[in-house]
Amino acid sequence: MDFDDTPAEAAFRREARAWIEANAPHELRPWLERSAYTALELPDGLDAVAVQKDWQRRKYDAGWACVHWPQAYGGRDASPVERLIWEQEEGVFRKLNTLFLINLGIAGPTIMECGTDLQKATLLPPCVSGEHVWCQLFSEPAGGSDLAGLRTRAERSGDGWIVNGQKIWTSFAHDSDWGLLIARTDPTVPKHAGLTMFVLRMDSPGVEVRPIKTIHGQSEFNEVFFTDVHIPDDQRIGAVNGGWRVVLTTLMNERSFAGATVPTGVEELFDFCAGFETETGLAIDDARVKSRLAQWAVRSSGLRYATLRAISLEAKGEVPGPEHSVGKLVAGSMMQEIAKFALDLQAEAGLMADAELTPYAGRFQAMLMQSPSTRILGGTDEILRNIIAERVLGLPPDVRVDKDVPFDKIPAASK
Ligand SMILES: Cc1cc2nc3c(=O)[nH]c(=O)nc-3n(C[C@H](O)[C@H](O)[C@H](O)COP(=O)(O)OP(=O)(O)OC[C@H]3O[C@@H](n4cnc5c(N)ncnc54)[C@H](O)[C@@H]3O)c2cc1C
Repeated sequence: MDFDDTPAEAAFRREARAWIEANAPHELRPWLERSAYTALELPDGLDAVAVQKDWQRRKYDAGWACVHWPQAYGGRDASPVERLIWEQEEGVFRKLNTLFLINLGIAGPTIMECGTDLQKATLLPPCVSGEHVWCQLFSEPAGGSDLAGLRTRAERSGDGWIVNGQKIWTSFAHDSDWGLLIARTDPTVPKHAGLTMFVLRMDSPGVEVRPIKTIHGQSEFNEVFFTDVHIPDDQRIGAVNGGWRVVLTTLMNERSFAGATVPTGVEELFDFCAGFETETGLAIDDARVKSRLAQWAVRSSGLRYATLRAISLEAKGEVPGPEHSVGKLVAGSMMQEIAKFALDLQAEAGLMADAELTPYAGRFQAMLMQSPSTRILGGTDEILRNIIAERVLGLPPDVRVDKDVPFDKIPAASK
């Protein structure tokens, strides 16, 4: 891969940079710089949802909302390299895209690949413009890593379906207009064969969203309960009982999106160590600190080149391999190690979480509290290792004893 911009890429970069310079909310830069990954901190009185919707809308009106999407759906038909250039130029303002992670990385691509023409025409433009916020209604108490074990039921009723059940860990459900919902439509066949995908309006009667409070005091995800919720059949995505095929499309997009975007905290750590005074001088001058920084710098370069290799493959029209799974696996644990290391350097101050009282505005405290979740969402470390073991190393597959058993014959405490 040639790391220099071609003349066309350089022109694209200039255009993107000029537009961002003229249109981004620069007054928020200091706040965004100190916001940890996905935990947005904004000045008091500013509504985070409104701020994010405003930035998304501004980009949409100018054709920058999701550059790699087709123009027909509000994108710019940008190449994988142009997408990378845009992301580099958007820089810290990318933190304002958090609310639309499901829109752009999961729901949109799924509808684009598996929806009808009418569904694409009506759902995709407000999805990319940020007018509608989307959530992903997949995980359940009994169906996380083993998603096909889910128990939410959708039963035929007249021209539609009646849904009963519960989802959990649903990010942004409390702010969402729409949800991508997978439900069981035939319990008499093996678990992967009896599922169907729908899109659901979150204000439908019978939908109840209960926020879950996380360790850093925010409520990013929720429990969602369904009691006799009616979904018209034209809100079905794909074939009846063909939901697993749609799920695979969604998960492929989710893993590549998550793998490509997990930050590691390494740049923040260099910055912090360069300015932090310990009892013996600047942290960055300490040989032990230097040694750790060097190790993380090497790992971070490895991640960067693996991501660039995946982009290069995509640019050539090839499907990337396990790079994104490896990327999320390595980046997730690295962020956790880096946050712990920075807090150890801070000694007693590392125990406090208040951004006003702690060194580096509490960024590593926020990172530590956020980091376990990056090792779970979009596939846990163990599941990613299974994928790498089976698909890359060719090791024997995980044991799946219930794979061919009709779902209603799988022993369970209750169904
Ligand atoms: C911040 C965050 C946001 C999320 N947002 C969403 C969302 O918007 N929508 C949504 O649907 N879900 C969401 N999730 C849920 C997420 O997808 C699940 O938590 C994840 O898939 C793991 O499922 P589980 O929590 O049920 O854990 P389980 O699947 O019960 O796993 C428990 C433990 O067992 C291990 N394990 C499970 N199976 C195996 C195996 N075969 N081999 C080895 N080890 C195994 C796991 O690695 C884990 O350590 C979110 C999660 C987080 C943390």
